[in-house]
Amino acid sequence: MKEFQLIRQIQQQTSAGLADAKETGVTLGIGDDAAVLEVPAGYQLVAAMDTLNAGTHFPLDTSAFDIGFKCLAVNLSDLAAMGAIPRWALLSLSLPQAGSDWVRSFTDGFNSLARSHGLSLVGGDTTSGPLSVSLTALGIVEPGKALQRSAAKAGDLLVVSGAVGGAAFALAQLQAGKAADEQYLLDRPQPRVSLGRALAGYANACIDISDGLLADLRHVLKASACGARLELEKLPATDAMAQLDDESKWNYQLAGGDDYELLFTLPRQYRSKLADWRQQLDIRLSVIGEIEPQEGCRCIGPGGVDYDPVKSGFEHFQQPS
Ligand code: ADP
Ligand code: MG
Repeated sequence: MKEFQLIRQIQQQTSAGLADAKETGVTLGIGDDAAVLEVPAGYQLVAAMDTLNAGTHFPLDTSAFDIGFKCLAVNLSDLAAMGAIPRWALLSLSLPQAGSDWVRSFTDGFNSLARSHGLSLVGGDTTSGPLSVSLTALGIVEPGKALQRSAAKAGDLLVVSGAVGGAAFALAQLQAGKAADEQYLLDRPQPRVSLGRALAGYANACIDISDGLLADLRHVLKASACGARLELEKLPATDAMAQLDDESKWNYQLAGGDDYELLFTLPRQYRSKLADWRQQLDIRLSVIGEIEPQEGCRCIGPGGVDYDPVKSGFEHFQQPS
């Protein structure tokens, strides 16, 4: 198959059944030298990009469907962390061979998530080379409403969505040849787009947890020039993690990556919003600590005792690179 045939296949598969230009904001999509997009009045454009390389970001035997899903999911998670509405995407595909079946499954995986978020693929690039997928996701947000890492304030509640450490624990179980919790083998992480939208206008700072809770929390603290008190016993775990002892559990929760949950800081006056969001979005939201004026992250263990994850024998503890 030639490059232009693959592009045509992607174009047909992604445009089938899509709403008209008025709804999608696509004046000109795949097929010209560049796309022309309509940013609605009263919004700013939000742009994010993430690359997935075979062997580094996904195992070599990952299905094309899962790669298609994940390359969009990780980008939508970044848009969610900004409080943005996803709108469009540009896709750069580097393929070892021009396989029509591979591209069809990849596009099916991409579509399965793109459709539920009303996102249109509007362009890209197709080249031959080692398997690598790079996606640029574009969204929109009201001016001044984008959730930034630098906006945490002392006294804010520290809140996390879903459970943390589940993906790393499930992967470890799988690698040890044990039964893993399929739900958390996050080849198909569900980006928290609706939560991000709900937070815009309320939360101060927000980040999506892709590198591990502690590593990503530190990004927020550094950008905001403040610190945090983190209560280990309040960290949300998956059901499967109940079998772990506390230290192993905290290890996964603090350092495990690939969860794609949102970590945000909420002014105390909005505490009651948490109950509304839990109900409206059917989502787990856990208050796990608070933002403090002095820099650094203090982990608090049982009985209110300070707990240093590195000194306290976290054998597997490592900062993701
Ligand atoms: P050019 O040579 O002008 O860059 P290309 O042949 O690379 O054009 O691409 C032709 C059209 O197909 C462009 O609109 C481009 O955005 C689109 N396109 C190419 N590859 C992809 C892809 N993997 N996914 C979506 N659109 C693509
Ligand atoms: Mg090109």
